[in-house]
Amino acid sequence: MITIELNKRQEQILEIVKESGPITGEHIADKLNLTRATLRPDLAILTMAGFLDARPRVGYFYTGKSRTQLLSESLKKIKVEDYQSLPVVINESVSIYDAIVSMFLEDVGTLYVVDEDSLLVGVLSRKDLLRASIGKQDLNTVPVNIIMTRMPNITLCRKDDLLIDVAEKLIEKQIDSIPIVKDKGRGYEVTGRISKTTITKAFVSLMHTD
Ligand code: ADP
Repeated sequence: MITIELNKRQEQILEIVKESGPITGEHIADKLNLTRATLRPDLAILTMAGFLDARPRVGYFYTGKSRTQLLSESLKKIKVEDYQSLPVVINESVSIYDAIVSMFLEDVGTLYVVDEDSLLVGVLSRKDLLRASIGKQDLNTVPVNIIMTRMPNITLCRKDDLLIDVAEKLIEKQIDSIPIVKDKGRGYEVTGRISKTTITKAFVSLMHTD
């Protein structure tokens, strides 16, 4: 994972290696009047983050990669499963009223609807429920499968998909969340959820990892 925010000493090391690399850890330590042991964690961070490369018996050298480049490289490594949140599922026979209650209690913006075999059959968003609420239906008796967006029109993703690809799908389809599914032969089991909040959390954490 990448460290974009470098501390002062790491910035100094980077400058030294840029100017004098390839250079051994010992020599970097000398230039900073520190011991090699003190520098070890900083060198490890700079190497792991991709700013520096190390060659045995040659020393450290600057990779020439900009922060933007490193950020973009590490963004492309994040999988859906690294940041997924828990899905909230309801049965397709549940009333619209009960779905609204679930949405409040579970504090989510999207509910996933499943059949009696727990396979995904639909998606319910806040606006789906609002639209139904201002209509003429009896919210206590009409089941959610009447108003949900149904299969096969559901945008899905898998746990191994790249988070950036799923983020692009959210934008392209103009939806707030995408269920993470596992293939069950006759259909899909919902195992997780990627939402706009998930993407925001991933984005923020990228800037603060070490
Ligand atoms: P809201 O309707 O509250 O703005 P969304 O933008 O997520 O929330 O939903 C817009 C419409 O797209 C709704 O009708 C919803 O049922 C549908 N929808 C939401 N998520 C998906 C998805 N993953 N695949 C297909 N349709 C979806």
